[in-house]
Amino acid sequence: MIGAGLTGPLLATYLAHRGYCVEIFERRSDMRKESISAGRSINLALSARGNNALKEVGLYDKIKPNTIPMKGRMIHGLNGNTNLQPYGQKENEVIFSVSRAQLNMELMNMAEETGNVTIQFNHQLLSADLEQNKLLFQLSDSLEKIEWPFKRVIGCDGSASILRKSIVEKANIKYLKKPLGHGYKELTIPAMDSGKFQIEPNALHIWPRGNYMLIALPNNDYSFTCTLFFPMIGKTSFDTVRTEKEILDLFQSQFPDSIDLMPNLVEEFQKNPIGDLASVYCKPWHWEDKALLIGDAAHAVVPFFGQGMNASFQDCSTLAKLVDQNENNWKIIFNAFSSAQVENGHAIADMALENYMEMRDHVNDPKYKKRREIELKLERMFPDQFIPRYSMVSFHQIPYAEVYQLGKRQFNIIGEVLKADPSGQFIDKAMVEKMLS
Ligand code: FAD
Repeated sequence: MIGAGLTGPLLATYLAHRGYCVEIFERRSDMRKESISAGRSINLALSARGNNALKEVGLYDKIKPNTIPMKGRMIHGLNGNTNLQPYGQKENEVIFSVSRAQLNMELMNMAEETGNVTIQFNHQLLSADLEQNKLLFQLSDSLEKIEWPFKRVIGCDGSASILRKSIVEKANIKYLKKPLGHGYKELTIPAMDSGKFQIEPNALHIWPRGNYMLIALPNNDYSFTCTLFFPMIGKTSFDTVRTEKEILDLFQSQFPDSIDLMPNLVEEFQKNPIGDLASVYCKPWHWEDKALLIGDAAHAVVPFFGQGMNASFQDCSTLAKLVDQNENNWKIIFNAFSSAQVENGHAIADMALENYMEMRDHVNDPKYKKRREIELKLERMFPDQFIPRYSMVSFHQIPYAEVYQLGKRQFNIIGEVLKADPSGQFIDKAMVEKMLS
């Protein structure tokens, strides 16, 4: 297996529990021994699909106490006013902020504790010869290159997957990388001197500003990690906001209530890297019975639905079920996995792109708010038939491709409700019932 990020050790654990021995090769050093960045975002939103996988492998109870529930989006207006838009209507419909590094370390510990998994750090895959069954690694601590024979290889090596590159070259599979054109930069709202959160901890904070946005998720040390999602180039972009004055002008005009919360804003803005964002579409996700892609390697998605990791964890759960059903028949397992999951990967990639518009812009739009009100009313009227799209994605295990289709139908139903009564006050139950059947 290539990559000991979030997906690799989880999948290795699923396989180890089924008696398989797994060797993971990871290009970084061991973050449990050396202080290195876990890469990308400092914290993540964990929801039902991720939690379900953690429960299946027995890690949920260990992770849960260190997560922070977020009940909804706390919208920060330009004038500093805030309002909470709940994610769901039921008590348990919350998502959880979790530390990426801590989760990654626990996943690695769990995998190794099975006794069937070893992790080789400082091994960077350079290429895979799928015909000759050989992997070529660069050892980052000695600059030596080594060849490693394999029988079967699974790529959990993230959005810039080298294994994917080898499969694309070998098998001529369909592959598209769609850059977003926007990148991200992380900033910090530290804890108060008294050791408390500076803003409401049980919410995901959003400063939606039309073409871009700032968000903040709570951490266990009472700080928040903020992420500015911003165009890479253009009039107002990472390209044009660089100097102290430009940074302060942007924050004073667009995020005025955040300035006092971030004492190191300018320093962090200038020091912290800009991450790029892209969606990856490829099909299929395997080559014969030899190589498979999973997690971001198969379907990197932009982070606006908070689903990249959750989708990757659901992949692992799905693959494990296929392993149970088709013991040792890897041709069938890989083929069935690709057939079942590719459309789901594409659907969450598309929904995540749509959600960027919703988060950075629509949440402030009265038309969006009215639609959301009707959506929640319809859920109360038809609790088994009408589950809002956000809830289907975040609080259920319904395949994403199905969610995408159901979401389109719901959009039309709400359109018809508004056509019948533009105020949205009156809902023709019989009409909706007919459209739902
Ligand atoms: P990664 O976590 O990227 O791990 C890949 C691993 O492979 C790494 O350890 C890397 O070092 C290693 N590797 C890479 N190349 C090689 C090589 N050539 N040889 C050996 N090893 C290699 N998802 C959510 O569900 N909720 C969120 O709230 C959320 N927020 C996000 C915020 C941001 C800003 C970003 C960028 C992503 C976010 N995601 C979120 C998505 C989530 O980070 C990914 O979906 C998740 O990390 C995928 O896990 P992975 O193991 O497949 O890939």
